[in-house]
Parts: sequence; C-alpha cells; structure tokens
Amino acid sequence: MRLIDTHCHLDFPDYGEDLDRVIERAASRGVTRMIVPGINAASSEKAIEIAGRHHSVFAAVGMHPHEADRSGPDVISRLRDLCINSDKVVAVGEIGLDYYRKHSRAGNQRDLFRQCLDISKELDLPLILHNREAGRDLLEILRASAPRVLKGVVHCFSGDKRFLEEILALGLHISFTGSITFERPGKLKELIELVPPERLLLETDSPYMSPVPLRGKRNEPANVRYLLDVYAGAYGLRPEDVARVTTHNANRLFRLGLEEKSKVAYSIRDSLYLNITNRCTNRCTFCTRGVSDYVKGHNLKLAGEPLVDEIISYMGDIRDYKEIVFCGFGEPTVRLGAVKRISAFAKEKGKKVRLVTNGEGDLINGRPVARELKGLIDTVSVSLNAPDAGQYAGICRPVFGEGAFDSIIVFIRECREQGMDVEVTCLDLIPEQDVSQCRAIAEGLGARFRVRRLNVVG
Ligand code: SF4
Repeated sequence: MRLIDTHCHLDFPDYGEDLDRVIERAASRGVTRMIVPGINAASSEKAIEIAGRHHSVFAAVGMHPHEADRSGPDVISRLRDLCINSDKVVAVGEIGLDYYRKHSRAGNQRDLFRQCLDISKELDLPLILHNREAGRDLLEILRASAPRVLKGVVHCFSGDKRFLEEILALGLHISFTGSITFERPGKLKELIELVPPERLLLETDSPYMSPVPLRGKRNEPANVRYLLDVYAGAYGLRPEDVARVTTHNANRLFRLGLEEKSKVAYSIRDSLYLNITNRCTNRCTFCTRGVSDYVKGHNLKLAGEPLVDEIISYMGDIRDYKEIVFCGFGEPTVRLGAVKRISAFAKEKGKKVRLVTNGEGDLINGRPVARELKGLIDTVSVSLNAPDAGQYAGICRPVFGEGAFDSIIVFIRECREQGMDVEVTCLDLIPEQDVSQCRAIAEGLGARFRVRRLNVVG
C-alpha cells in the first residue's frame, strides 16, 4: 500500500530533534511521498532544504495569509525564485485567505493571494490552498484567475456543501485532516460523501490535527493511514482502494514521479477485474478513456494485448475474490476466445464470472454468442444508455450504426434464454424519461435494471 501525505509541516520546530526518524517511520508505514508546504519565505526555504535531503519529501513554496501584513514585492520575488531554482518544488502553497484569526488585514491577504496565484499561473504549478471563513472571496479571486484551468487542493477543508460544490466545479481537489476520525466530526462526514474519490487527497496537516487514537499528540505523516477507514466507509471501498486512488490523485496533480504500471488484472473492493483489451466497437460520448487512463487509481492503458496465459498469471491467487469481472478499457467480446478460456479457468476454481459488455458480441463475432457463454458466465451486464436505435447511435456511436441497438436487444434476450443473470445499466447522465424507457425494456426482457454513476466501477 502506497500513501501520500500532501500536507505536513516538517519544517516546523516540532520536528527539530527527530525529523529523520519521523520520515523513516512514515516510509515504514507506506508513506512514499510527503509534501511540505511553506508558510513564508524562510519556511519555504527550509521545506526545500528538507526535500533536498530526503528522496520521499517534496516542497511547496508559499506565504500563508497570516503573513500578509509582512509581505511585499521583495518577498514575492523571493518566492518566485525559490520555485524556479529548486528541483523539488511541486506546488505553490500554503496560500489563501483566513478571516477567522485575522492575523493580517483582509485587503493585504487578498493582494498576497493574487500575487501567489500569478506565480502558480506563470510557472504552471498546482496550488495548495488555505481557507478559513473566507470562502466567498477565495472563490471570487480564483474565478478571476480564469480562463486558466485551476489545479490544486483546498487543504484541511472547512466550509459548507455549497462551497464544496463550487470548489469541485472549479476542478480543484479536496483534503480533510484527522478531524474526520473524531467521534463527532459532524458535517465533515456528510461532505466527504460529496467528494468524488478521484478528487480526494490525503493529508495530516502535521504537527496539528492528530487523528484518533492519537488525538492531542504531535501529528506526523505516518498517521495518515488512520484516515483510510473513514474514507473507505464513506465510499464503500476498501482502505487499500482509498490508498491507491488518493496516491494516484496526488502523484498526478503534483507530478511526484511514482510509477503506475498498466494493469491487466486489477482489484476493487472484493472483485478482480480483467482488462483484456483496449479495443472497442463504440465511441461513447461519455467514455472516460479519452479523459484519463485511470479507473479507481488503476492504469488501464495497455501497451499491447496480453495472451491468455499471461492474463491468468496476472490474476494470481483468486481464492479471496468474490467474483471475476471482464471490465476494462475496451469491449471484452472482441476477444471472445480469451473470455471463454479465462472464464473456464475461473469456473474451475469455483468463482462467479461477470461480463461487462456493450452487448454487441453477436455483431462483432458474426454469430449469436450467448449459447457459447452458457456455463462460463454467471452474470452479463449490458450498458444500454438509450431507449432506441437512433439515440443509441447518437450517444454510443457504434461502428455498426443504428443496427447495433436491435442486436443488443437480441443478445440480452438470448442470454436470458440461456439462463444467465442479466443486468441492463444506464448512466445517470441520460434524461429521466429515457431511463424509464430503458428500465421498461430491461424488465420486458426479464433482466434486472440499474442506473449507474459515471466512473463508478462494480
Ligand atoms: S462501450 Fe465502454 S469502452 Fe467502449 S466506448 Fe463505450 S464506454 Fe468506452
């Protein structure tokens, strides 16, 4: 399990005596990357110095809003130089607004924030943002920095649902601290569920915000793992899923250089998924392949198509999995022979097998294929997404044109006739009346029906 603590103040005097041991302890608990944000020029220099001595540590350069009254053109120019001349600076931060403690005048905070945003914009560095009771001004200033796409994180999130949604709409990530583990974290837990896992980062905010069971003690990056169970509970994932997804998110956002090899067999929750091809007969308008190579932190972009024996060896020991699922960045039935051989292997081991398909297997293979899948596949999950041929062609853009839809319906019917459990799915993006019609089609064919959220696997 690899973890990334995206916010730890290791430059603070709290670590004056045992910094090396703190970093070693983090490594021994799987924390492979740590980001130390600067709160002023001296702190940023110290963060860079620590990052220079430790492979796993990276630095951010920033000036905290508390310091705004002590800022000026010299300071801004010094921060800019630090960003340019240091190898391990990966972000501009910690910057933002804090109207709660009022250690600096609000007008000075806003000026400083704008100047730091300019550094981030000019040098194409992501942001590490601080906000305390200043959400409206923070949003206004961030929006004014458009048309540039914003990259960064609002750390130690505090605010309401509306502020959260507006931050997410800007494309930013969110991180919460150990406060989510407190007995009564109140609204924080409700807010977590609104954050897509793909936008979540882990942080400790060390030396502050120690999680339960260490509340009240000095915090450190090794403790970031205590947050995993809370997120896993909120998302219905395993802690290791949360670790992988958040590590991927941070690695990509801050360009931390962790290698993420492409996966043929990949696990989410207690299922083993198989990504046997990247070819597909559709060009769905909603397909995430064009946006990212990743699903739940797994890289699904294949360099080539693996042979059946290779796929089986990638599967490893499958005893602990609830099911084996053909589901990757492509349509499995373009490799029907591989699907059948691998399914036979899984059935021999007593496993349930599910095929996630666009339902065009008959057209792809030039013959009805349901009979060939009998006894090999337990559940077929067909992604329908439209109630008629014209709409299907418009949304899913099959190479077979409008003829695809009728063939999919026949495929569903034949799978049911062969005794397979069939689930028809629609994405939650399509209009409600179309969802109702798809439901009626599915039920008319004796299939189950489910509305699926985009990018939620399983
Ligand atoms: S069927 Fe699936 S893999 Fe193929 S284009 Fe559509 S969403 Fe992408």
